[in-house]
Amino acid sequence: MTQHDFIIVGAGIVGLSTAYKLLLAYPDVSILVLEKEDKVAAHQTGNNSGVIHSGIYYKPNSYRAKNCVEGRHQLVDFCQEYDVDHEICGKVIVATEEEDIPRLKNIFATGQINGIEGISLIDPPEISEIEPYVSGVKAIHVPCSGIVDYVGVCQTLRSLIEDHGHTVLCGQEVQKVKTQETNIDVYTQKEAFHSKYLINCAGLYSDHVAESAGVVPDLQIVPFRGEYFELKPEVEHFVNGLIYPMPNPAFPFLGVHFTKMVRGAIECGPNAVFAFKREGYDKLSFDLEETIETLNFPGFYNLARKYWKMGLEEWYRSFSKKAFVENLQDLIPAIRLQHLKKSPSGVRAMALKPNGEILNDFQFEVTANEIHVLNAPSPAATAGLAIGDEIVKRAEKAFM
Ligand SMILES: Cc1cc2nc3c(=O)[nH]c(=O)nc-3n(C[C@H](O)[C@H](O)[C@H](O)COP(=O)(O)OP(=O)(O)OC[C@H]3O[C@@H](n4cnc5c(N)ncnc54)[C@H](O)[C@@H]3O)c2cc1C
Repeated sequence: MTQHDFIIVGAGIVGLSTAYKLLLAYPDVSILVLEKEDKVAAHQTGNNSGVIHSGIYYKPNSYRAKNCVEGRHQLVDFCQEYDVDHEICGKVIVATEEEDIPRLKNIFATGQINGIEGISLIDPPEISEIEPYVSGVKAIHVPCSGIVDYVGVCQTLRSLIEDHGHTVLCGQEVQKVKTQETNIDVYTQKEAFHSKYLINCAGLYSDHVAESAGVVPDLQIVPFRGEYFELKPEVEHFVNGLIYPMPNPAFPFLGVHFTKMVRGAIECGPNAVFAFKREGYDKLSFDLEETIETLNFPGFYNLARKYWKMGLEEWYRSFSKKAFVENLQDLIPAIRLQHLKKSPSGVRAMALKPNGEILNDFQFEVTANEIHVLNAPSPAATAGLAIGDEIVKRAEKAFM
């Protein structure tokens, strides 16, 4: 058995940021990151929209609001210091109907409370100056939003962790955690590791890893796939930066948007369709055991009862490219079916309570020698480095 001070489960941005922040705070501890895939950032972090969120949307004083703003500043500094591809290209959030303007102003007011620098309400002539192909009656300009290569961020974090003498082991799926008073045995499909403390950052499987450690979380992860199209090169000039619609206040996602990518292309999406497999990236992906697990969970029924109409619309839009395009045309009327080609999907871990409530904020469960990150939804990629600080603080309080 290998002995460590900390074992971190999951090499997405949350797990790697946590390892990095721990080694900065405690240079003498030994840290092992266990990742089940053969590379870092293989799931949510590596299949997301690549946006550096400003923090404008989130409830003031929530963990999401605080960590997004702080995390964004840290992320941009990190990318500058370690030469990771990024660009602060700015974003517009567009009201396409007069009746949306009061809600747009509410988002603007939230942005001011959250301290988002440089935001302004703009009218159609200014919208056209920033995004000439967009049709809107009013918009919020968010100059501090940007785009980044999150896989590059994670690869850099991995190198830094290893350069400091710690270990990131890929191909190690944590299957069982045995917790005793002063030590923890962690079993993967290949071997066993020994540690004083454990931090679970397993994303789509954070609830399973918690359960394997004997923690029964009051929530379950339900996967929602986000599907994307990409603009063909001849119409990439339709988009300069980030173009977002007004989010539906009843739903935790931001609505299909146009996203400039650091690799140069423009993505459109993501939608949000229930996935029959936690890591199900294709429309036909299916896992019987995971589907039964979801169907046996009362939270799923309670959610479906509330959102069945929206869910069906999303399913329809998932199978009808025409419906997807019609949605995009609200923002850019010149978009046509033939301008789009399919792009890879991502899957979000949505944490649901048994009563169907969607947990919007970051959620941690702390025991005497474990921290379980049970919910790290968007903007957790932007906020990753600040979430790392938050976890180190909790570890100090609980363990030291
Ligand atoms: C479609 C989509 C678009 C998004 N867009 C954005 C965006 O533009 N900006 C933004 O800030 N956020 C965005 N998000 C949210 C953001 O990507 C996630 O909140 C963030 O990546 C979560 O990071 P994580 O490390 O918790 O999870 P993950 O990146 O999923 O990492 C968890 C890791 O744990 C590993 N793991 C799981 N189980 C085990 C086990 N048993 N043993 C070992 N390893 C295990 C997994 O393989 C994985 O590598 C988006 C998410 C999605 C899905």
